[in-house]
Amino acid sequence: MRDENLRESTNIEDRRGGSGGDDGSFGGGFGNGGIPIRTGGGLGFVIVVLLVLFFGGGKNLLSNLPADDNSYSQSGYQGQQTNANGLNETHDRSAEEARTAKRIARVLGSTEDYWGNYFKQNGGTYNPPTLVIFDNATKSACGTASQATGPFYCPGDGKVYLDMGFFNEMRTSLGANGDFAEAYVVAHEIGHRVQDEMGILSKAHRAMARSGQDKGADSLSVRIELQADCFAGAWAKNAIADAGNLEQGDVEEAMNAAEAVGDDRLQKRAQGYAVPDSFTHGTSAQREKWFNTGMKSGDPASCDTFSAKNL
Ligand SMILES: [Zn+2]
Repeated sequence: MRDENLRESTNIEDRRGGSGGDDGSFGGGFGNGGIPIRTGGGLGFVIVVLLVLFFGGGKNLLSNLPADDNSYSQSGYQGQQTNANGLNETHDRSAEEARTAKRIARVLGSTEDYWGNYFKQNGGTYNPPTLVIFDNATKSACGTASQATGPFYCPGDGKVYLDMGFFNEMRTSLGANGDFAEAYVVAHEIGHRVQDEMGILSKAHRAMARSGQDKGADSLSVRIELQADCFAGAWAKNAIADAGNLEQGDVEEAMNAAEAVGDDRLQKRAQGYAVPDSFTHGTSAQREKWFNTGMKSGDPASCDTFSAKNL
């Protein structure tokens, strides 16, 4: 993916270098290899463990966060950062992290431009979220964000939370490599913001609250996740592919990422087998399918996972 043509967002809140729990009052900190990302608003990154989303408002999210954590926390995240080559590793990681952070800011900027236009064309207004970059742990209206939670979007405060180490995990544990894979993860979380802006999230949450059903292979939770994948695909088509920013191997990278973060795959990694009833994100194949649906059509209207008979 060529990102140099993408507009860098200022909606990033850099909380790296903190001890966690700070609500961004020292956003823009440069500690710990932190990068002087602009601190205008808050970049937030988040990725996949959005089960969180399903549970709607802040309060419910809190109680449900731990469950979401499991798949990621068990995927071998810890320990990646300890390495025999102390200084060099640290230095290299900081430089790499700086590049990653810049890419993320650019991807975020391109989602703002794409969705801003899309909403405008449809008579609406897109309010872009803040993306919070953190390490270790930080507070959100949906509970404490940590390495174990994975990236997520919190409807309670409208921010995306992204732990920089998650991309290391993608590379090393999940086998999902490449900058476009990172972009897909960001675009997926932004997809949840778009759902929030469209009123889809709150509607789905109300329906889930009424039915008491929020998990399972064709649950609303899964439909929400797959739609976010499809929205990510629509962004990829318009902002990256059609804009001439796609490079060879990019789509494979995203597919690999989508595959790597499917519930079935994560659960198999964690416990050796998959439990469809507890699926909340969709299988790897479903995630690939819906990302592709958005990528091929380039039209968010093609992302109606709620009406789809076959996910
Ligand atoms: Zn999600």
